[in-house]
Amino acid sequence: MNGMRRLWAGFGLAALCGALVLIAAHQVEGPPAYRETLYVFGTLVEIEIRGEDRDTARTASAAVGRLLQELHSDWHAWRPGGALHAVNTAIAQGRTVQVDERLAELLQEGRRLSCASGGHFNPAIGGLVGLWGFHADTPPQGAPPGPDAIAALVAADPRMTDLRLEGHRIGSVNPAVRLDLGGYAKGAALDLAAAELRAHGIADAVLNAGGDVNVLGTHSQRPWRVAIRDPFAWGVVGAIALRPGEVLYTSGNYERYLDHDSERFAHIIDPRTGYPVREIVSVSVLDSSGIRADAAATALSVAGRTGWPDVAASMGITAVLMITDTGRLMATPAMLARLEPAGDSLPGPVELIKLPARGTALSCGNGRDNPPRY
Ligand code: ADP
Ligand code: MG
Repeated sequence: MNGMRRLWAGFGLAALCGALVLIAAHQVEGPPAYRETLYVFGTLVEIEIRGEDRDTARTASAAVGRLLQELHSDWHAWRPGGALHAVNTAIAQGRTVQVDERLAELLQEGRRLSCASGGHFNPAIGGLVGLWGFHADTPPQGAPPGPDAIAALVAADPRMTDLRLEGHRIGSVNPAVRLDLGGYAKGAALDLAAAELRAHGIADAVLNAGGDVNVLGTHSQRPWRVAIRDPFAWGVVGAIALRPGEVLYTSGNYERYLDHDSERFAHIIDPRTGYPVREIVSVSVLDSSGIRADAAATALSVAGRTGWPDVAASMGITAVLMITDTGRLMATPAMLARLEPAGDSLPGPVELIKLPARGTALSCGNGRDNPPRY
C-alpha cells in the first residue's frame, strides 16, 4: 500500500502536470526539465528543475540529495548512529547531550508547533509510536499493544515542553520523552532542500516527497499543478495550482498502518489516548511553510472531525481539506477557492467550514486537564 501511494503521488503529478508540460514544451524554447528521484525519509522524493542548464540543475540536485540523506540519518527516530538517536538515549538515561544548530532549531520549532496545536501534534510520543510497531522499515504485524502498556505511556505524559534546551545542549525533565520527528521532519527537510536549490540559483523547481510538495517559482509560463489523491478510489480529489513558494502537504491514514483482525490502526497516534486516529482519513494543508504544513496535517488528523478548526486557527493555517472515514469532504473557504476538480466535478459535496478567528490560540498541554509544565 505504501508503494501504491508513492506510485500514485508520482502519477498524480505526472498525470496532471504531464499534459501541460507537453503543451508548455512546444511554447517555450530553452532547456528541458531536469528530473531526479531519491529514496529518503521512507519515501521517494522527486526533484524537478526547470529552465536551467543541465550542469547547474545536476549540481543543485546532487547537493539536495546529499542534504536529504544527511538529515535522514541525523533525524532518524530509531536507527542507532544518528544525532536524534543519541538524544533519545541521553534522555532515557537522564543525561544531556550536545546537538548541532539545525537539530536544536528543529526541536525548538517542534515545541512551538506542538504548543500551537494544543499538544495534538506531539513529537515527544516516540514511545507510543514505537509501541504500536511503527519504528521499523516494514509495516507492523501481529496484535496491537496491550491497553496497560498504552496507558502507562500516556500516563508518563511526554511533552515537548519537558525538553530543556540550553544553547545546543539538550535534555528532558521527563525520561518518558522519546523524540520521533516523523510528523514534521519531511516538511523541515523540504524547506531546507528548497533553500539549497535557491542558493544554487534555481528559480523554478518542485520537490515532491510522496505527496508532500514544496514549489519554487513556476513550471514555465504556468504554475506548478499538484493533485490530491482520493483515499477511497483510484483517482484524485482535485488539483491545486501552487503559487511560487507555496507548499501542499497531505497526511494520509491510508498509507502506513497495522492490520489486525480486519481492524486498521494508523500511524498517527492521539497523544491523549495513546491510540491511532480513526475519524480522519486524509488531511491536506496548503501553506507557505513546509514544516508548519506537515505538523498541521498531523495535528488536524488527531484533532478529528469536530476539533480541527480550532487547531488550524491556532496554528495559523487557513487552507485545509479534510476527508473523513465516512467519505465526508470538508474544506475551509481558502482551500475551496483553490481546489480545482480533476475531471468534471469534485468527487462529492464539500462542506464549507469557516475557521474561528486566530486570536483563539491554544496553549501547551495535550488537551488534558492538567496544567502545562513549562
Ligand atoms: P505522512 O507520513 O503521511 O506525511 P505525518 O506527517 O502525519 O504522515 O506523520 C506521521 C508520523 O508522525 C508517524 O509515523 C509518527 O512518526 C509521527 N507521529 C504519530 N503521531 C504523532 C503525533 N500525534 N504528533 C506528532 N507526530 C506524530
Ligand atoms: Mg505531518
